[in-house]
Amino acid sequence: MSAFLDRCRAIAGAAFVLDAPADMAPFLRDWRGRFTGSARAVLRPGSVDEVAQLVRLCALDAVPVVPQGGNTGLVLGSVPDASGSAVVLSLARLNRIRALDPVNRTATVDAGVILQQLQEAAAAQGCLFPLSLAAEGSCTIGGNLSTNAGGTGVLRYGNTRELCLGLEVVTPQGEIWSGLRGLRKDNTGYDLRDLYIGAEGTLGIITGAVMKLFPAPKASITALAALASPADALRLLSLVQDRAGASLTGFELMSAFSLELVARHFPQLPRPFAGPHPEYALLEISSSESEAHAVALLEGAIGAAYEAGIVRDAAVATSVAQSRGLWQLREHIPLAQAADGKNIKHDISLPVSRIADFIAHAEPLLQQAFPGCRLVCFGHLGDGNLHFNVAPPAGIGNEAFLVNQESVNRVVHDAVVAFGGSISAEHGIGALKRDELARYKSPVELNLMRAIKAALDPSNIMNPGKIL
Ligand code: FAD
Repeated sequence: MSAFLDRCRAIAGAAFVLDAPADMAPFLRDWRGRFTGSARAVLRPGSVDEVAQLVRLCALDAVPVVPQGGNTGLVLGSVPDASGSAVVLSLARLNRIRALDPVNRTATVDAGVILQQLQEAAAAQGCLFPLSLAAEGSCTIGGNLSTNAGGTGVLRYGNTRELCLGLEVVTPQGEIWSGLRGLRKDNTGYDLRDLYIGAEGTLGIITGAVMKLFPAPKASITALAALASPADALRLLSLVQDRAGASLTGFELMSAFSLELVARHFPQLPRPFAGPHPEYALLEISSSESEAHAVALLEGAIGAAYEAGIVRDAAVATSVAQSRGLWQLREHIPLAQAADGKNIKHDISLPVSRIADFIAHAEPLLQQAFPGCRLVCFGHLGDGNLHFNVAPPAGIGNEAFLVNQESVNRVVHDAVVAFGGSISAEHGIGALKRDELARYKSPVELNLMRAIKAALDPSNIMNPGKIL
């Protein structure tokens, strides 16, 4: 084993092959602190060529490789299992923006570039890189691609898959595939790029990417609408889409209990309404003309929704600064949940038109099975993506409730599938949802996935035990 590590050190340099437990610890623990794996070493290569050489070495010695970016993933994909047989291969040192082309509207980046770093580099050129999520200060483009991350901009710009034009990948055999093409049209055979996106490191290691940039809007303005029900949130979404089209850049749903948690744990944040309402929608309109134009569009849409009897009350920001305050309410929901204790989380998607019916169906089923349980339901309604989290009844300890995880999952995921939805909207499968995937995918689909894995990684060294 030490001969293996010696060879790793000869490739990456001794300082970048970590095997002391204290040095490895942050790379082995998952972001939510639910699981800590074990590894032979953490490898931190500094170039694409070093990545390829290290993978060739691992292939030779049949050492499993767990690729890791910012380690912010939420499904136990980026940490090794407990066996101690794998190495973690961190892309963090590959952090260069290789080129930025404002005319082609593309950025060519190393996989370890932090998302926020790319957002800022694009902004400095008057462009927008629209992927945005709460972990953007530490997640990487390689991780975003490998999980096909979503976030708050999907409604207008699509998820990470739709933001990528080209990839560079180190294969499980240690070859380098350079597909860094900045083309919007390229029909030259099978789309290998799309195969690696969302593969969670099970097919190869993404080392570079060409990402799309967009014109930066002049202003994005937000309103918080108080509503009677999720059905009214859907009516509001349709109304605003009809009026504002592509100017609608965000549409988030938040239940009363979600915002109650935020008010309890973050009392310093704004409270736009005097009393509670059953549901809230956070809307964002962006304008390529001016702040005043965005405010006018938003006020017009909210006015029409009032007249149609859809909205009970609304707070419309009149400046970008006020908009930030409203967004903070949405962004603090996960933090408020964490402060309140553990709960059973679901990251699900449904056809947008069926969301209200799904909630009306699933909530009573949960209450019947787990009386008094509290639902923290919020999410990217415009994309059909709900975070449908189930917290213990008041007065019941977290640990006592978490033993119900399997049966709670069954109620929620069975209902999701019955409504034509997906058990993982944006976080992926990892090790956490592997058994759920096996339960809900058809044998045909699973066999096709296994065939792809076997063809590209016949020795099964790339992130084994994840997804399949
Ligand atoms: P990691 O966690 O390091 O890895 C994730 C997976 O990708 C693992 O399977 C890993 O093996 C693989 N991987 C990483 N880099 C590479 C590479 N270069 N090549 C091949 N495989 C690789 N996700 C959303 O989609 N939307 C959200 O709104 C969202 N909000 C979040 C909020 C918080 C506070 C947190 C902590 C997480 C959130 N996430 C969200 C989840 C997470 O941030 C994303 O999944 C992100 O894309 C992971 O990026 P990462 O660099 O941290 O990847």
